[in-house]
Amino acid sequence: MSKVRDLETVVRYGLCTSCGLCESMAGRDRVEMVVSATGHLRPKVKTKLEPALLGRILAVCPGAGVTGPSAAEGQPMHPKWGPLLSLQRSWAASDAVRHKAAAGGTLTALGAYLLDSGKVEAVVHVRASTSDPITTDSLVSRSAQDVISGAQSRYATSSPLRHVMRLLDEGTRFAVIGKPCDVAAIRALGRIDTRVSKQIPYLLTIFCGGEANLQTAEKIAAFHGVPRKDIALFRWRGEGWPGPTRVSARDGRVFDMSYEETWYEKGKPWTYDLQFRCKICPDAIGEQADVAVPDGWVIENGKRIFREAPGVNVAVARTDAGVRLLRDASAAGALKLTPCSFEDFEIMHNDHTRRKVSHPARALALFLLGQPNLRIRRYRAWQAMRLAGLGGNWTAFWGMVRRVLERANREPLPR
Ligand SMILES: Cc1cc2nc3c(=O)[nH]c(=O)nc-3n(C[C@H](O)[C@H](O)[C@H](O)COP(=O)(O)OP(=O)(O)OC[C@H]3O[C@@H](n4cnc5c(N)ncnc54)[C@H](O)[C@@H]3O)c2cc1C
Ligand code: SF4
Ligand code: SF4
Repeated sequence: MSKVRDLETVVRYGLCTSCGLCESMAGRDRVEMVVSATGHLRPKVKTKLEPALLGRILAVCPGAGVTGPSAAEGQPMHPKWGPLLSLQRSWAASDAVRHKAAAGGTLTALGAYLLDSGKVEAVVHVRASTSDPITTDSLVSRSAQDVISGAQSRYATSSPLRHVMRLLDEGTRFAVIGKPCDVAAIRALGRIDTRVSKQIPYLLTIFCGGEANLQTAEKIAAFHGVPRKDIALFRWRGEGWPGPTRVSARDGRVFDMSYEETWYEKGKPWTYDLQFRCKICPDAIGEQADVAVPDGWVIENGKRIFREAPGVNVAVARTDAGVRLLRDASAAGALKLTPCSFEDFEIMHNDHTRRKVSHPARALALFLLGQPNLRIRRYRAWQAMRLAGLGGNWTAFWGMVRRVLERANREPLPR
């Protein structure tokens, strides 16, 4: 198997998640996140990195490797869903936040609570760019209002970790809201930088269907007759739950499409164009976070539905710190919590099962074909293979062989 020895290999073989931590560690004058031809943010290496720095970056890069959580003694570790210390339906106590947010506004409420309570001095997350609204800015929020301004899901490429090293150097105590791979990168950083455990006490995440490219957003806007230069606002969802996908043009025209129409109706000239790394992701469900916060979909007749409703999340506490945070935010009146059964949770998020149990078979295919792949440790590979069954493993294996033969794991370097 060829090993990942540099950032160029991470990018060329479709392993980059776009997290931005390499830029933060090397400095933008040496590594800069830029949009590549694939429509994803990728690191552009401007000057050769010395071996020690490159080694540190590859030790934390979620395109080079991810190490799953270790269950503390006596704590529940589900073979598929990972650490499950508690499962609750949740939403922001503020109606305005709940309405604006992607789902119930739980992440925004937790971020705002952490700042208001003085538990952290800043929250690292993302927000839609105002100058080019299909792109996403990396944000360091220091007030609840700033956290609220970043509510809602940004499905296309983003690099939330761009400011992490600067904040560590400044001695700031902060929380990170990011995708599961962003959280994995911070956990890995914690293994080589002792400041992380003191200065980043809370890691919050989503369940992640994968990161789309900018072309997906451009195609949606073009469908409404709005070229990229004329887009005034691009909102994937939110302002309702799930809320419409909204494109506003600079001339005042506004176009809304329901969540179902956008993603489930056939014949649309776009698909959710995932980066390759997402197809081999062993953890799109935030096993390494303190709290993972997916949608708390409404269930009707044993199936999840996407009918508009007041937003609800499921708050999955994965660590003791996560359990305490949910309890404290609720006691402070920032968050509403009600019970959620495991059976309901399974129905809501069964779409994650296939990818979750397929990663060992996919990794095996990459290995046998001599393709670079990320090191995957502690993600219960044997249990995943058992859950996938013979048929599931076979399909995942040959699907990956086909993808490699089609060069679907190859990307050009950013210019
Ligand atoms: C790419 C992507 C894929 C998703 N796939 C699923 C899925 O498969 N199943 C599921 O249940 N939910 C999925 N979600 C999550 C869901 O859309 C909600 O974001 C989540 O449930 C949190 O809801 P909330 O109301 O608490 O979020 P909000 O209160 O609106 O807060 C969202 C927070 O997440 C941050 N954020 C938004 N987008 C990104 C991003 N791209 N990278 C880093 N941080 C970001 C924002 O800055 C904000 O702080 C996905 C979200 C994204 C961005
Ligand atoms: S995954 Fe993150 S750290 Fe690794 S190359 Fe991509 S942006 Fe850099
Ligand atoms: S699917 Fe995995 S690799 Fe892709 S964006 Fe989500 S957490 Fe990151």
